[in-house]
Amino acid sequence: MYQANEKRYEAMQYNRCGKSGIKLPVVSLGLWHNFGSVNNYDNMVDMITTSFDLGITHFDLANNYGPRYGTAEENFGKILKNELGAYRDELIISSKAGYDMWPGPYGNFGSKKYLVASLDQSLKRMGLDYVDIFYHHRPDPETPLEETMGALDYIVRSGKALYVGISNYSAEETLKACKVLKELGTPLLIHQPCYSMLNRWIEDGLTKVLEENGVGSIAFSPLAQGMLTNRYLTGIPKDSRAASANSVFLSEDSITNDILNKVKQLNEIAMERDQSMAQLALSWALKVGKLTSVIIGASRSSQIVDNAGIIRHLDFTPDELERIEQILK
Ligand code: NDP
Repeated sequence: MYQANEKRYEAMQYNRCGKSGIKLPVVSLGLWHNFGSVNNYDNMVDMITTSFDLGITHFDLANNYGPRYGTAEENFGKILKNELGAYRDELIISSKAGYDMWPGPYGNFGSKKYLVASLDQSLKRMGLDYVDIFYHHRPDPETPLEETMGALDYIVRSGKALYVGISNYSAEETLKACKVLKELGTPLLIHQPCYSMLNRWIEDGLTKVLEENGVGSIAFSPLAQGMLTNRYLTGIPKDSRAASANSVFLSEDSITNDILNKVKQLNEIAMERDQSMAQLALSWALKVGKLTSVIIGASRSSQIVDNAGIIRHLDFTPDELERIEQILK
């Protein structure tokens, strides 16, 4: 039976999520890749228990993480039952609905029908009574925002989630969602945008909206799916995401010379700071993106150990920030 490291809370830093009562670890773990039915279960257990031993208390899921859809939640549920169940009150578990999940008109986007049914399925797969955070995964251009936010409010009132979030919403959409939720009496806890050194769209408005409204922010793909690490500096490893048949959004063609040139220069700065390239990218995202946390992905526990090491060096000098700007330009 797994026994958590007694010193786990000394190894991590926790940031307050917006103006809420919740604190999140600066590094959170996402289960989008490497936790599906096609992956090795023992490796998943190793990654989850390694994370928790490092003080990573937040695990991010969604209804359709796999492949097959739903299997990341099933595997996480099994790990909770077999290993981590005794620690449920020390965990922040999130799930989402908003993308394609089941056939027909009720298995996608943002209707109340879809969100409520999907969360019920997620809870069953994970063996949970409630999730800590439930997200609407992406804006739905056709469903009235009032219905989608009303569904999130209903979900909290029915006890199936403690807090709600949104993901992939623009600054403008976020402001509207915030207002509707506020009127309903269920404040928006958090926004989950894509953000990294290679994708800085949130700096153009969203960050300000979140700050002004006391909403937390947690970036997904902060390592640009592995491109902002040393993974591809000497070629494309066979066991990497870019080479994997299960990877939809990162391919060998994504690893361009321009990106490699940038990462090589950034890696020099990382070495001067006595950090790995991944650590530089994560600490930079937290600082410049004014984030509560970063959600990393991983294919092995050594990557999680490396990434959790950012707490040793989160600060930047103005000179370092300026040199990074020049490289990213
Ligand atoms: P990252 O940008 O952190 O990429 C993770 C990949 O980077 C790993 O699989 C691994 O690649 C590589 N890696 C990680 N750490 C290191 C390291 N220290 N050294 C070398 N390589 C490393 O994040 P993801 O794209 O995986 O996304 C993270 C999470 O964000 C998801 O699991 C999910 O929870 C969430 N997400 C949310 C979305 C949304 O729409 N809301 C969309 C996408 C993700 P390799 O496999 O090659 O070893």
